[in-house]
Amino acid sequence: MLKKDILSRIDLPIFIEITRVFFDQMGFMIKPTGTGSGPGLSEVEILFHKLNKTPFALCQCHVAPPPVTVDVLDRYRSMIESVKLSSGYLITTGELSEEVRARGVGKNITMLDGKEFVDLVNKMPQAKLSLIIDTIRATVTGSFRRLAIKEMNPDCPKCGAPMGLQVTEGKHRKGKFWECPDSSCNYIKAWVD
Ligand SMILES: [Zn+2]
Repeated sequence: MLKKDILSRIDLPIFIEITRVFFDQMGFMIKPTGTGSGPGLSEVEILFHKLNKTPFALCQCHVAPPPVTVDVLDRYRSMIESVKLSSGYLITTGELSEEVRARGVGKNITMLDGKEFVDLVNKMPQAKLSLIIDTIRATVTGSFRRLAIKEMNPDCPKCGAPMGLQVTEGKHRKGKFWECPDSSCNYIKAWVD
């Protein structure tokens, strides 16, 4: 599972990747528009239904700080209107002020703060969630990568060490499972799809 405080340590390119995989898993293709980027803001992207290729909504990602302002929301709203789409997603790693939330009411903008987004991601089936986690693993590097892996894998119920994902084709433990890296423990935990 994804822990909430991880969002405070990721940058915009990684957050864009995470939301891309998220929407991909929800059944949408994503195409960037090349417009709308700004401080902490991704360019605006269009979500298309994978099945019938029709445009569904706009999406814009934001990484705090800076905070999402009323101006950001107003610009985004006018963009949604200009492409004649009925809805949009604005997703931030940070928080959303009451003022900003109030501004979006009735405007068909789904605003998600970091906590709400992580809650949504964690409600996905394990196989889809693991794809998002794999994306973070593949995208981030260095000390943050080690931290990210530690934060996303379950802790060993026996000794508390962060468990590693194992994939085998063997007779006895076919498929995926979590394994404790501590050689004196080696606790195995089932992978739940
Ligand atoms: Zn263990």
